[in-house]
Amino acid sequence: MKRSGLIILSGFFWLTLGLTGRLAASEIRIRPERPVGGQGILVELAASDSEIVRVRHQERLYHAYRASSGGREIFLPLRVGAAGSLPVLVERISADSAVEKTDLALEVSARPAESVKISAGGVRMRRRQPSRAEERDLVLDSLRRCSETRRWKEVFIRPLQGKPGTGFGVTRWRGDYQARHWGVDFIAQKGTPVAAVNSGLVVLAEHGYNIYGNLVVVDHGQGVVSAYFHLDRILKKQGDVVERGETIGTVGSTGWSSGPHLHLALYLQGAPVDPLWFIDFTRTLSGAAPGGAKSP
Ligand SMILES: [Zn+2]
Repeated sequence: MKRSGLIILSGFFWLTLGLTGRLAASEIRIRPERPVGGQGILVELAASDSEIVRVRHQERLYHAYRASSGGREIFLPLRVGAAGSLPVLVERISADSAVEKTDLALEVSARPAESVKISAGGVRMRRRQPSRAEERDLVLDSLRRCSETRRWKEVFIRPLQGKPGTGFGVTRWRGDYQARHWGVDFIAQKGTPVAAVNSGLVVLAEHGYNIYGNLVVVDHGQGVVSAYFHLDRILKKQGDVVERGETIGTVGSTGWSSGPHLHLALYLQGAPVDPLWFIDFTRTLSGAAPGGAKSP
């Protein structure tokens, strides 16, 4: 057990508020130091093989995954409107059900509100089966996957070099109708290759959805899932294993889209977070995970 490796590491944020029970807050590492609504956090805690680690956060209870160190880790989402002091309860449960726990207070900065108006025209939609509601359920089911095995070792990358367009969390108004933008758009020419942001398993690859168009969803494991919407060509099929940077399709304007672009979504434990933030965040984890997982 490499518990000692967690205890003293300079330069990281150690939460020390509201300690209850026997679990020392110093054993828990939460990054980044000052998260923002719509981003996420990485919670890490030492644990032996037989121990279970649970985290209660934003009214949900999560089981942390096994880290390469043998400890536990989990990426958790922060709601886009989250701000202020957020309680996080961490429990470590032994094989004989002894519970060590602590309450932490996570300080979350508010995400600046952003909204844009969209003209009513310029959107091609076509009716097909399944219905839009069924499509949404199918896509959300795939985005909410939480498979045990972590399929990635290196940092996440951008799917293409194009300029980011509409950002994550922006409220978009179309007349009286408003919707949040649960991903980031990259503006690029039709046919531009789209790379998998990291290694993973293709869990959905479908053509002709009314909203998402031609789409691919990749499960990276341990509750990290990426999705690529409005593609022109799809070059992978469900069940394919993809490597980081491998081309999975090309930029298009299929589905609910007013021009060629890629919509990239990134989900943590079933909830959307800012994909650009996550890609950058994984760079900060380089070599610092309790498992010693190194990044290039
Ligand atoms: Zn979009």
